[in-house]
Amino acid sequence: MSDYREVDDNDITGGSDNGGANAAGNSETGNIQNSGKAGNSKHDSDEYEKVCYICHRTESKAGKMISMPGNIYVCTDCMQRTLDTINGSGMSYDDMIKNMNIPNMPNMNNLNGMMFGDFMDNYGTPDRQKVKKKKEKSEPDIDLKSIPAPHHIKEKLDEFVVGQDKAKKVLSVAVYNHYKRVAENVDDVEIEKSNILMIGPTGSGKTYLVKTLARILQVPLAIADATSLTEAGYIGDDIESVVSKLLAAADNDVEKAEHGIIFVDEIDKIAKKKETRSRDVSGESVQQGMLKLLEGSNVEVPVGANSKNAMVPLVTVNTKNILFICGGAFPGLDDIIKERLNKQSSIGFNADLKDKYDEDKNLCDKVTMEDLRNFGMIPEFLGRLPVVCSLQRLTKEMLVSILKEPKNAILKQYKKLLAMDEVNLEFDDDALGIIAEKAIEKDTGARALRSILEEYMLDIMYEIPKDGNIGKVTITADYINGKGAPRIEMRGLEVPLIGSAGA
Ligand code: ADP
Repeated sequence: MSDYREVDDNDITGGSDNGGANAAGNSETGNIQNSGKAGNSKHDSDEYEKVCYICHRTESKAGKMISMPGNIYVCTDCMQRTLDTINGSGMSYDDMIKNMNIPNMPNMNNLNGMMFGDFMDNYGTPDRQKVKKKKEKSEPDIDLKSIPAPHHIKEKLDEFVVGQDKAKKVLSVAVYNHYKRVAENVDDVEIEKSNILMIGPTGSGKTYLVKTLARILQVPLAIADATSLTEAGYIGDDIESVVSKLLAAADNDVEKAEHGIIFVDEIDKIAKKKETRSRDVSGESVQQGMLKLLEGSNVEVPVGANSKNAMVPLVTVNTKNILFICGGAFPGLDDIIKERLNKQSSIGFNADLKDKYDEDKNLCDKVTMEDLRNFGMIPEFLGRLPVVCSLQRLTKEMLVSILKEPKNAILKQYKKLLAMDEVNLEFDDDALGIIAEKAIEKDTGARALRSILEEYMLDIMYEIPKDGNIGKVTITADYINGKGAPRIEMRGLEVPLIGSAGA
């Protein structure tokens, strides 16, 4: 089974918050914005439906829409009501337009007797206020035959993500089952939704795994930060804004969004606060607020904006088939796990040594729901994230592999850049080891690698293009340690050219 499309080398590096997943989708929105007259517009095809500017109902609910300049639509009900109001109040057309606050509306006195509806139909290209129609009886978006089997998903992940085998396996199976469940739609045995909780230190690849996954599956992805979420009505994004992000990533295609992935990062930051003197609007209440999203419910989300207001049309998105992946570093969770394990092992005849778990680097593998509850996650929330997987802290060896092995590894990118100047760039293995050690010191996982490397590559990238005779540059451990220069080979002979740089 290899029905899914190849993942492009450069796609992931250039990925936006949406993991580049929207790039995977078609760019119809782009066409729409620039298209010409209504009749010729691709957007005007059957795929999209209009939304009333006043009542925000879609064409399928409100019936025929009257098109107005400035890409505005008004349903016949609202138009009738407006005209009735004008008739009743003696208001002129000009006053009406002022009241409706529609930008770029021409002077209505110049209509020369044209029927209002005709004028509206003939005028301008409506496009801003459209959402993609829900297909009534369509084929499932996710075709069971085209979902790659778990081992294929893992193989693809392996090309980009170093290590984290267990997490990759858990994720592949969970995602496979999720989309099987979506595609199958059988009523006799309801397969439960398998939202995922990912636990792992910062920079260990949580976001990266999810981004890669969305690319492989070609589903839209929205990445949200739990720290910015607050209970509705308080300063911050309300919880449903994550769904509107997904809708945007799916080019406002409701159906596509309903099969997408939402990654909520920093989920540990919404743990229940120990101190409960003030109202916990960004902690426990956010967990409570997320329950219905995680489980599956209809959410009214604004189209093309982050917040609901009177000017933005709303559509209903059902979250039942949206896969939620929550990730967090959960600092302090190790201690909770260790305490529980120590308690268990110090009871009875087989009492273990108290410090048995002190050196255990992968304590998070042993996490239980009870530990997460003790951390501050509420049971109802955890109950809706049945799949838990943990990521390991990256070791020196893994960091070195991250530098050179993935399809779009940083070293490969630098090599490619210099190859354009016909210069061969090489790295000594011990130089890579030192870079990895420096990254470990920073304690931000693989995230530190690029910034460290950039520091050393700056001089190289600056100096090399000066001299067209340079054929090869080798980054040595001495150069990284600040004790020497990189090894430069001219086309033919070998001379050190550049002074030492870096710390
Ligand atoms: P976090 O776990 O904090 O979400 P990220 O996934 O954002 O970390 O990782 C930051 C960057 O580090 C990624 O963009 C990716 O380039 C790199 N990275 C992290 N872990 C890995 C890994 N296991 N394999 C390859 N690259 C990785």
